[in-house]
Amino acid sequence: MKIDLRKIPNTEKKFENKFNSVRIQGIFCKVTPHLVKIDSLITGNVKITCSRCGEKCEKELDEKLIFFVSDGIYEGKEDILVLESEDGFIDFDEICQSEIASLLSDYHLCKECEEKNEPINIEIIKEI
Ligand SMILES: [Zn+2]
Repeated sequence: MKIDLRKIPNTEKKFENKFNSVRIQGIFCKVTPHLVKIDSLITGNVKITCSRCGEKCEKELDEKLIFFVSDGIYEGKEDILVLESEDGFIDFDEICQSEIASLLSDYHLCKECEEKNEPINIEIIKEI
């Protein structure tokens, strides 16, 4: 789903977008003529590969994400998460896609490996 930044109202509006198995929903509104605030929740399931045994498993997503989209280059100085839109649109499919990609690049353990994950033995060196 692509949304024209110019058509986003100054009052909060609900949105929802589904991409593959990932859903992004929340509210957006314009905070300045060229900046939109998005308060969202990303949920769903992503198939990942266990970093230890290579088994495929599912990772549940449940992540709150607050970010801004600027129409063009963001020139403000506030320390906020800003996506710069080149074409004046927000592409929620792309946001879901990049969320999936960043999840896939992380280190993951499947449930079995997590359970097998033995606690690290700490050797206590006796004081002489
Ligand atoms: Zn595993």
